[in-house]
Amino acid sequence: MAKVLIIGAGGVGNVAVKKCAMVADVFDEIVLASRTVSKCEAIAAEIDRPIKTVAVDADDVPALTALIQEIKPDLVMNLALPYQDLHIMDACLATGVDYLDTANYEPLEEAKFEYSWQWAYHDRFKEKGIMALLGSGFDPGVTNVFCAYAQKHYFDEIHYVDIVDCNAGDHGHPFATNFNPEINIREITQKGKYWEDGQWKEIEAMSVSQDIDFPEVGVYRGYLLYHEEEESLVRNIKGLKRIRFWMTFGQEYITHLRVLQNVGMTSIEPVEYQGQQIVPLQFLKAVLPDPGSLGVNYKGKTCIGCQIEGVKDGQTKKIMIYNVCEHAKCYEEVQSQAVSYTTGVPAMIGAKMMLEGKWKDKGVFNMEQFDPDPFMEMLNIHGLPWKVIEM
Ligand code: NDP
Repeated sequence: MAKVLIIGAGGVGNVAVKKCAMVADVFDEIVLASRTVSKCEAIAAEIDRPIKTVAVDADDVPALTALIQEIKPDLVMNLALPYQDLHIMDACLATGVDYLDTANYEPLEEAKFEYSWQWAYHDRFKEKGIMALLGSGFDPGVTNVFCAYAQKHYFDEIHYVDIVDCNAGDHGHPFATNFNPEINIREITQKGKYWEDGQWKEIEAMSVSQDIDFPEVGVYRGYLLYHEEEESLVRNIKGLKRIRFWMTFGQEYITHLRVLQNVGMTSIEPVEYQGQQIVPLQFLKAVLPDPGSLGVNYKGKTCIGCQIEGVKDGQTKKIMIYNVCEHAKCYEEVQSQAVSYTTGVPAMIGAKMMLEGKWKDKGVFNMEQFDPDPFMEMLNIHGLPWKVIEM
């Protein structure tokens, strides 16, 4: 029996709160806090057991610290934005409470994400006797666990990993992003990067692509992007020679993105407009559909997985571990599309692992550092069943 404080009432927060509420034997008490409290209240109204809601600006560390002291949760789940990660970790350190998130820290003024900032908290978390679990979404998150599972059960050594992410769904809008538009567009428009032969290799944004055959959904064009789980997997998967990340985009999406980039709407440099400083990308977010609202009438499926090649008993082998998730089913269950769903469910499972003591340590950790088996079992039970195929 535990109490959790969930911060962030967006698309992912909506799913995680509802999934935690379904596991009442672990998540005894749930408090949902976010900047706009009406969003917390709207989610609470859709749950058939009472949860507490509260307004907080997570960038205000003293206010957040006071809130944590008042609520006394066993765990803080950060489902706000990457900009808040360090502030929420600071408040967890001040109060001695465990921490979990789904995306690594990114400074507001620079489109760059890496784990160094959060890994730097390791010793302080360890000294305080608390734990931080980083990246408990799908990618990062489940993809890290898939690699750990492959390492444990299928290979003596893993040499090549291709993480492949396909959204073969149709939300009916000409252009929309499936999670926070600002974070999503910053990720896609920055330079791509992959790791090979002991070094990072950089490419121009979206300049490398290939057709990928996704089980149960078909062949889609995947673009090589840099994704944060590569950084920790390079550290934690032994023998790795190359790791890449591929995400599919339709032509319509790419055309819209190119136009928006060309006219300067994806820039994060402030511009003066009618006497005010505005950031074009933040303005763009305000006019794009809210990802949390895309679920209605969303058709089709996502398929996300890891293609893994390595050696077992002297033989080369290649497998794929993947999940297929259907947008309409997610909407039926928790009024969400599949991208928020595939992030919110692993957030709940990561929290469950920590609260039940199945994943327990002192310091800052990535998902692949723990035993993958109990997490994999929970994926099957809580709505994200997976398969392994030999390739
Ligand atoms: P949304 O924009 O839908 O939701 C973010 C929520 O955080 C909003 O409720 C927002 O409040 C709140 N928030 C923002 N700033 C603050 C603040 N300073 N204090 C308190 N609350 C704040 O984003 P998503 O739900 O789509 O994404 C949530 C997170 O999940 C992001 O970090 C994203 O990168 C990550 N993610 C991870 C994935 C994975 O697989 N690992 C995949 C998809 C997303 P308000 O409503 O007032 O703006």
